[in-house]
Amino acid sequence: MGKTTAIVLAAGSGKRMNSDTKKQYLLIKGKPLLYYSLMAFERSAIIDEIVLVTSVDDIKYVKEEIVEKYHINKVSMITEGGKERYNSVYNGICALKDCEYVFIHDGARPFINEEILIRAMDKLIKCGSAVVGMPVKDTIKIVDDEAVVKDTPNRRSVWQVQTPQCFKFDIVKKAYDNLIACENSGELIKSEIQVTDDAMVVETFLNNIEEKFNVHLVEGSYENIKITTPEDLIIAEAFLK
Ligand code: C5P
Repeated sequence: MGKTTAIVLAAGSGKRMNSDTKKQYLLIKGKPLLYYSLMAFERSAIIDEIVLVTSVDDIKYVKEEIVEKYHINKVSMITEGGKERYNSVYNGICALKDCEYVFIHDGARPFINEEILIRAMDKLIKCGSAVVGMPVKDTIKIVDDEAVVKDTPNRRSVWQVQTPQCFKFDIVKKAYDNLIACENSGELIKSEIQVTDDAMVVETFLNNIEEKFNVHLVEGSYENIKITTPEDLIIAEAFLK
């Protein structure tokens, strides 16, 4: 049996935080934001190794000030990210060896925990995919460019997705290979598809070519937020109390 690897993404610029320090390195309770998600994978009984993706300028800082300082020993590699999130994920995927299952996680989600990881692993073994998410609490509207409502989906069938997004390695590798081939040929730009998560890469770039493959969701938690804007930091500090 191959390894279960977490790809932890920390190569974003975090512009929406309006801070000189990139959001993944902002301190919460004295520790960098990225520390918390790395530690959840470090302590997990499920995860064998962690591949960390950061921007090239941050590799030394992350290695010395987070990975070594806090003894995050499962980090086997720190690799360079790309322009978009999906480029960073692909760099992580291409760095993997002898991997059976992949957990792709936003480093900006510090509240991932073992309970969610176990739930995801159970589903992943049964179904080949497990994307963490939660049913929405608000009613969602589909609108046009002028914010005119076009549709109101039934709330029971709308989930907000989080990370980790977990797949069998060969499935996600094939889908990402197809996506990057589309990007390189210019088809992706023409299609105007905005790639915002890993599930949609599997939904869009595998199903077209391979047999139908269902992406399965599994419950995360409403605390598993992505730290994006300054007010999220206040919420994060409250959760840690
Ligand atoms: O920008 P967004 O908040 O959607 O980013 C989600 C995660 O993906 C963050 O942890 C961020 O650091 C990471 N990311 C990345 N490479 C990029 C863009 C985002 O690793 N080019």
